[in-house]
Amino acid sequence: MEEHVDVVVVGAGPVGLLAAIELTLGGVRVLVLERLVTPSMVSKALGIGPLGSEAMQRRGMAAAITAAEERIFAAMKKSTEQNGPDARGRGTRFSGHFAGLTLIRKDAQKEPERRAHPVDQQAVEAMLADRALSLGIEIHRECDVTNFVQQADGVDVAWASPAGDGRIRCSYLVGCDGGRSSIRKMAGFDFPGTAPSMTMYNAVAEIDHPERLLPSGWRRTSGGVFSYGFLPGRLVMLDFSGPPEDREAPVTCEEIEAVLRRVSGADVRVKALESGSRWTDNTRLADTYRRGRVLLAGDAAHIHTPFGGQGLSLGLVDAANLGWKLAAVIRGQMPESLLDTYTAERRPVAEAVLANTRAQMAILRPDPQSGAMRDIIANLMQFDDVNRFIGEIMSGLSTRYDLGSERDEVGRLIGDRPVSHRDGEGSLYDLMQDGMGVLLDASTEGKASRLVAASTLRIRCVAVDAGPSMLIRPDACVAWAEEENSIDGLEEALHRWFIPRLDDGSRLRSEQ
Ligand SMILES: Cc1cc2nc3c(=O)[nH]c(=O)nc-3n(C[C@H](O)[C@H](O)[C@H](O)COP(=O)(O)OP(=O)(O)OC[C@H]3O[C@@H](n4cnc5c(N)ncnc54)[C@H](O)[C@@H]3O)c2cc1C
Repeated sequence: MEEHVDVVVVGAGPVGLLAAIELTLGGVRVLVLERLVTPSMVSKALGIGPLGSEAMQRRGMAAAITAAEERIFAAMKKSTEQNGPDARGRGTRFSGHFAGLTLIRKDAQKEPERRAHPVDQQAVEAMLADRALSLGIEIHRECDVTNFVQQADGVDVAWASPAGDGRIRCSYLVGCDGGRSSIRKMAGFDFPGTAPSMTMYNAVAEIDHPERLLPSGWRRTSGGVFSYGFLPGRLVMLDFSGPPEDREAPVTCEEIEAVLRRVSGADVRVKALESGSRWTDNTRLADTYRRGRVLLAGDAAHIHTPFGGQGLSLGLVDAANLGWKLAAVIRGQMPESLLDTYTAERRPVAEAVLANTRAQMAILRPDPQSGAMRDIIANLMQFDDVNRFIGEIMSGLSTRYDLGSERDEVGRLIGDRPVSHRDGEGSLYDLMQDGMGVLLDASTEGKASRLVAASTLRIRCVAVDAGPSMLIRPDACVAWAEEENSIDGLEEALHRWFIPRLDDGSRLRSEQ
């Protein structure tokens, strides 16, 4: 091997790019290998959930998200003028949907300001690519990773490229290579789950009589489910007559027209098809996210129906969870066992997402039994607690890692908030831009900060005016919290996440 990098990330999709950003901020050298010459233009995510967008906001992309969102809101407004209102637009009482039931109410949510952003996947990828570029991350395109061999002290990775085949040695390999991940297959991860049973279509189409498909919004019929026109020409359909015969066959105008007529029951013709793709409810989860020196993140680790739009956010939070931990292990500051917490924390979250997507499919089916169940769920959603419960499932805000604390905030991913500290005012996420952990210290005379500062340079200590005091990991997970003057449990949390206990029971004094 001619060259060595700390980490090879396979795939420059959204998850691979964020993983590379996190690792680079953690001080390790990363190479991203991507098969495609240019980013994919296949229409996928049309929105990003709160936890995914927050992971990006913490890394300097807040302004770009706001600007992209303004452009989409303008397009939605135009579409609303033509097609009538849709509960997905700005200014509605609702935020998101469950099984097409646009009943999740903002006023029933605990933190309504933490919301999804209607920013499409191409825009998200462009923001992440810009940020990666600004950090000097090497992304080699047209490099199709074809093989790798795990050695005791590293992984030898090989790729094929029109510019010539290549090989490199890395300490760890991170597969962010999507749902059909070859890294997952080559490393021998199990990927159990349920086979596809239906087909979902995503298209931009010109329809001869669009008024026959309106009003816009999710419409469930005896033939399936469709939604037309929430963005100009945008058509989404669920066809429960079975999985596609040939998944690779191109989607044609005739196919979209036939499915649309069957699913909507409307007498319409498709005059032109700008783009069309099909997906299924194939639902699977890797048995573990790590085998030795090979790790998985994003769709490589979990796939499910895209209906309800959770996959992108789920994958971005994987990347945020893994990045700082792997960097700390590679820097030699934390033991490899820290990586076990990656599977332990993230796999149950994916398991829950898979479960809710299966539940949504079950009540979207066109049979009367599914319809009856769906009506019951719709009625239950009138109750605030149920509405909040379902809202938090769909937004991901129900995520809480089991860190063994009875305090509710410990294990949760904290949202951005104003931080009033002794040097002035700021925002929590502004303090986190460089990938450091944060201690919000409300103790008198800075008791907590003194303990932290004596142990590690990787936590920014900020004296705040009001409690509780909190230790926040670089992925925004609250690792410890106590009322103003108590530092009970802080030392334990520091050892668990930032500084290992040495064999003699003492602590590392400081790093770097
Ligand atoms: C129709 C549709 C709608 C969706 N809507 C939403 C939504 O609204 N909200 C939401 O949160 N999610 C949504 N999703 C899910 C979201 O698109 C995915 O979860 C997301 O793309 C996962 O990102 P990723 O980086 O893990 O994988 P990908 O985006 O698949 O990226 C993987 C990358 O790896 C590269 N690659 C693969 N193999 C190799 C190799 N051997 N060598 C080198 N490179 C390789 C690929 O070229 C690709 O660039 C939707 C998905 C679909 C299909």
